Amino acid sequence: MRIVFIGPPGAGKGTQSANLIGHLKVPHLSTGDILRLAREEKTKVGLMAAEFIDAGRLVHDPVVVEVVGERLKQPDCQKGCLFDGFPRTLGQAESLDDYLDTNETPLDLVLALDVPENILIERLIARGRGDDNLDAIQTRFNDYQTITRPLLDYYERRGLLHEIDGTGTPEEVFDRIKAVIDNT
Ligand code: ADP
Repeated sequence: MRIVFIGPPGAGKGTQSANLIGHLKVPHLSTGDILRLAREEKTKVGLMAAEFIDAGRLVHDPVVVEVVGERLKQPDCQKGCLFDGFPRTLGQAESLDDYLDTNETPLDLVLALDVPENILIERLIARGRGDDNLDAIQTRFNDYQTITRPLLDYYERRGLLHEIDGTGTPEEVFDRIKAVIDNT
């Protein structure tokens, strides 16, 4: 199965991705994780991405598309994968579509986690990752609303979108996700 997982920062994508990959037995492709690892390893991409991550700004599309392309070439992605935090822009979504069309491996569904902003801010501040300061959080929210949210329409038009209520306990949210997946 190929699933795109969309949601604002703090929506619980990381937690639910861990549940999902256990359920579906497909690899987890998180661009946030890939970029943070590249940064730790001080690769060229990682050094370039670091200042964007700290400022809460989106890394440029060609860089993100390149790292995703590299990851998708690995044999474990042949059976499917969970895209977490990618695509985040229309350009990324179109690149992904081109890639998947060429390989005749279409997406099965798009899950969008929906959580009110006041709850998101509380969760992010409690999490306290390096880029979870108020300025970076605000930038990430603004970019989510203006740049990433339009992807919901993009996928809705393709009949792939499923919006999930992301409030409540992680177990409650996962039950909602499983209900969608088991009906697809
Ligand atoms: P969150 O969902 O909490 O914002 P992520 O781990 O998905 O966290 O992303 C952390 C940072 O990594 C982003 O703020 C951005 O700088 C960079 N990043 C991750 N994925 C992408 C992407 N698809 N496009 C551009 N930048 C990205």
